[in-house]
Amino acid sequence: MNKERKLIVAGNWKMNKTVTEATALVESLDRDLGTQTDVDVVVCPPFTALDAVSAKLRNSLIKVGAQNMSENDYGAFTGEINAGMLRDLLVHYVILGHSERREYQQESDAMVCSKTKAALAAGLKPIVCVGESLAQRDANETEAVIGGQLQGSLAGLDAEQMKGTVIAYEPVWAIGTGKTATTEQAQQVHAFIRREISKSHGNEIAQTIRIQYGGSVKPDNARELLSQPDVDGALVGGASLDAGSFSDIINNTRN
Ligand code: PEP
Repeated sequence: MNKERKLIVAGNWKMNKTVTEATALVESLDRDLGTQTDVDVVVCPPFTALDAVSAKLRNSLIKVGAQNMSENDYGAFTGEINAGMLRDLLVHYVILGHSERREYQQESDAMVCSKTKAALAAGLKPIVCVGESLAQRDANETEAVIGGQLQGSLAGLDAEQMKGTVIAYEPVWAIGTGKTATTEQAQQVHAFIRREISKSHGNEIAQTIRIQYGGSVKPDNARELLSQPDVDGALVGGASLDAGSFSDIINNTRN
């Protein structure tokens, strides 16, 4: 697939996989993908498996991401993990503002923004998630919602920080539901996101930044979705839990 920006496909394992299961998964994924370099591949295991997965992938092209982190550097925050601790485990990416965290942990745009800045300061690449609910889409509020989330979650980021950031557009109604946005729906919102970034940070950044699509991406719909001009990769939930289906997604997007 001939794309302007290098594709990035990340697997969000959510609260799944023991250490044994996680290392088995990345072992077969690494075998399946071999030495391909045309797509950036990231796996995001739960915290408990980060160390073991990182060690398994030390000589691999597959990078490791976390699913969340604290906005604080250190201190009395029971149960939290900071960016430095992730770097310590050779983690390169971190998913921030996933809709499940926005919903179940009441994460606000302001909190996502603080986390994004803390991640960047530590040398992590944040994957910042935005997306509308079905009710918001039905009420024609998609652009207003996404525009607000972008503004709030990326507030005050300078050009360099934006270049180190990945955006994930994940319509909430498409996550884990088997309902995928049509290619037109995805392209429309991705183009809108790029226009918004162009307005806030200029055209050069807007043309450089990568915008992933997430929401029931599977081997049989990945190629069509990722062939859209403004779709630069995928954030994959369910289908990333199996090495075969995740590598099929990646391989189906390659030439
Ligand atoms: C996700 O949770 O980021 C996601 C896209 O999940 P799924 O692929 O299962 O819809």
